[in-house]
Amino acid sequence: MTSVLDPATIGKPSRPRHVRTLTLYIPEQDEDGKDKWPRGEEELWRANLRKPDTDVPSIARSFVNHVQTSLARQPHNLSDLGAYLATGLSVRDNLLLNWNETQMHMNRVAGKRAYYLSLEFLMGRTLDNALLNLGLKDQYRESIDRLGFNLEDLIDQERDAGLGNGGLGRLAACYLDSSSTQELPVWGYGLRYKYGIFQQLISPDGQQLEAPDPWLEHLNPWEVSRADVQYEIRFYGEAQKYVNGTARGVWYGGQEVLAVAYDVTIPGYDTRNTNNLRLWASKPKRGFDLQSFNAGNYEHAIESSNSAAAITSVLYPNDQTTFGKELRLKQQYFWTAASLADIMRRFRNLGKPMIELPDYIAIQLNDTHPTLAIPELMRILVDEEDLPWDVAWYIVTNTFFFTNHTVLPEALEKWPVPLMEHLLPRYCAIIITPLSISSVEHKFPGDHDRLARMSLIEENHPKYVRMAHLACIGSRKINGVAELHSELVRTTIFKDFLDFFGVSKFGNVTNGITPRRWLAQCNPDLTDLITKTINIPKNIWLKDLSQLEELLKYVEDEDFLEEWAAVKQANKERLAHYMRVTLSLNVNTKAMFDVQIKRLHEYKRQTLNILGVVHRYLTLKAMSPSERKKLTPRNVFFAGKAAPGYEIAKLTIRLIVNVARVVNADPDTKDYLNVFFLPDYSVTMAEILIPASDISQHISTAGTEASGTSNMKFCLNGGLLLGTVDGANIEIAEEVGSENVFFFGHLTPAVEELRYQHKHHPVPVEEKSRNLAKVLDQISSGLFGDEGVYEPLLNTIRQLDYYLITDDFDSYIEALQMIDDAYNDRTEWIKKSIRTTAKMGKFSSDRAIQDYAQEYWNIESTKVE
Ligand SMILES: *Cc1c(COP(=O)(O)O)cnc(C)c1O
Repeated sequence: MTSVLDPATIGKPSRPRHVRTLTLYIPEQDEDGKDKWPRGEEELWRANLRKPDTDVPSIARSFVNHVQTSLARQPHNLSDLGAYLATGLSVRDNLLLNWNETQMHMNRVAGKRAYYLSLEFLMGRTLDNALLNLGLKDQYRESIDRLGFNLEDLIDQERDAGLGNGGLGRLAACYLDSSSTQELPVWGYGLRYKYGIFQQLISPDGQQLEAPDPWLEHLNPWEVSRADVQYEIRFYGEAQKYVNGTARGVWYGGQEVLAVAYDVTIPGYDTRNTNNLRLWASKPKRGFDLQSFNAGNYEHAIESSNSAAAITSVLYPNDQTTFGKELRLKQQYFWTAASLADIMRRFRNLGKPMIELPDYIAIQLNDTHPTLAIPELMRILVDEEDLPWDVAWYIVTNTFFFTNHTVLPEALEKWPVPLMEHLLPRYCAIIITPLSISSVEHKFPGDHDRLARMSLIEENHPKYVRMAHLACIGSRKINGVAELHSELVRTTIFKDFLDFFGVSKFGNVTNGITPRRWLAQCNPDLTDLITKTINIPKNIWLKDLSQLEELLKYVEDEDFLEEWAAVKQANKERLAHYMRVTLSLNVNTKAMFDVQIKRLHEYKRQTLNILGVVHRYLTLKAMSPSERKKLTPRNVFFAGKAAPGYEIAKLTIRLIVNVARVVNADPDTKDYLNVFFLPDYSVTMAEILIPASDISQHISTAGTEASGTSNMKFCLNGGLLLGTVDGANIEIAEEVGSENVFFFGHLTPAVEELRYQHKHHPVPVEEKSRNLAKVLDQISSGLFGDEGVYEPLLNTIRQLDYYLITDDFDSYIEALQMIDDAYNDRTEWIKKSIRTTAKMGKFSSDRAIQDYAQEYWNIESTKVE
């Protein structure tokens, strides 16, 4: 029997696997009833293995089969939901065949693989995207049509997989699509939250209400549950050093929870390569705690089983700040420990020495959320593999790569040391040792401030572990997500680490988006127009987005310009139809469509936008009817969720909703200005809004938006950009030309000084901007109802104004005016739109994932034939 103190029993698969090869041939029999010698084995394999359903009749057969068996329904009693599920299961069959081929191929090749660890994967819907990537949309449409259903209606039955808050999670999803499309061996690892990002409801007076998102309510046809892939994960308990004088320790007791794998297929576009996204769900180890049960404490037994299931029950609905929450730390450890156990099992199967691990595995940390993977790999190498400390540290620091996503100080993750010691007792010993104080002191003798700044531990009450520091020292390379952001990473939060490690540890990978979902899927008309115009097959240019530059040859072609404008118009009609059907709202499709959709946050400055809207409203009210008639009508669209505890962001939503209520009803202005707040922003909603936009707003305070990715989505769809000189806006302008974007506002280097002035030499708002002062006064005086409720929001501007609304307001208003003028020159505007799309090649996530593959992970494409 193995002892409980034997480290070899920890983190191993809970069941040994006995495998054999399936005998696939059915022997033919001769006249005497004896088995005939089988024909060529290869042939027989082929005869019995299932083939993909790619033609209309086989798709129909597969659909009906799933209706009758998998769903156990009668063919005469099928709803759209049932038909969607049958379609999904049928498509999944095709995906799984490719998935299997890919895994067999990758095992045969046995090359280096990369793993993308992300606490969020904001996948959105799958059906439409899978059909696009498989190239089977037309076949499925026809088949479903013949069966009496409509494919588009079935697509609408699918709930978004909302396993993320915003940009960070959507980035992970785009990267998976590109990894498969680029035929790279990359797996994602995440959590299978029972409840994804909350559903946002808006009360009649504009308050955000949150409801749970039961996305798994019905069968999820896109996942495969792998009851055979499960690991035991330990929490709490005690840790001891081994007595043999090595670094080895052991961790025992406490709570053990099972991590069970659910696999989601990630098909590449126009390739059989299909990678895997493995999501972990928690479950109690033995149904419930047997010890309590035996002691007659039935209730306690159930409680502990609930506490195991709770680990993966809900996605934390915060972006930028989530710390101190024990359950969140538990999620992070549960997920990283299960993922590493799985990665290590695959590596051990290769039979290579541990020291070669970095030649076979690269692990990307998407933000600091998976940083516990660093001490966890140390624990495995030291405690389970019995490697010396230095060797283990060498392996670790050549395996991990870290992407930073924010320089906002309040968003840098840190965990109280007492909580860490309690939950992960083996960890503190592992975390304290790495960056031995002596090596810093050796390099910078006597520089105690530097030592304190660089320490993994923030000396406070209580002490905290700084996760960004741990991720930094434990990784081979660190990158930011746009040029400006990567520079800020090097020169602000990690400046001391730059001095210590040198510049080669730091890099940049500007974010990207997948053109499959964010152009081909969401804007099929534009996709067809582009294909026809540049005369390059769609499957070529969608994988080499720089080909869009060919569009530049046609910017003087008047017919093309008209077709381009007609597609935009049709997309506006599509959005208007959607809003009429789902929200009973009427939208004037002749107006300019001005869109800002993203998480609600002070740094993203939806406030600046709505204050600009109020300014426009006041200006319109002051005009004569004949003056107004000369104006281009404008629709301003907002969508986005606020973190449930973020009162200022929620108040911004309330202001937007109430401004919309007043402005849209005012007979003086309603023909010229309309405001809409669309509740419950999601990937699917983005797919409808983005193709309809003439202009979109990305107006963060300079230096605060790491990259942004929705800016790229809009520009790819021919929407122009109104932005600050921040994040990827800068690189977009470099590509499309500054004459095709609208920039305003102070630059990053000015921000610190302006904040200093607000704090130490405050100037009244009216001295900075009379326009803004008037707007604030009107809101305060109750123009939008609820006198007084907006004061906490308005006071953030009147007082510290940390996000510099007062400093940027006038230049923002000027930029809006420039947009009005530019829009009135219709032909020139269409040309700008075409030029914008044409130059978006750089922002394909294919480029970004190749940057990671080549400059960071050192992995190679390998095609599944
Ligand atoms: C792209 C995307 C984001 C990121 O938007 P930013 O404007 O870059 O913050 C957030 N949510 C959804 C649903 C998205 O599709």
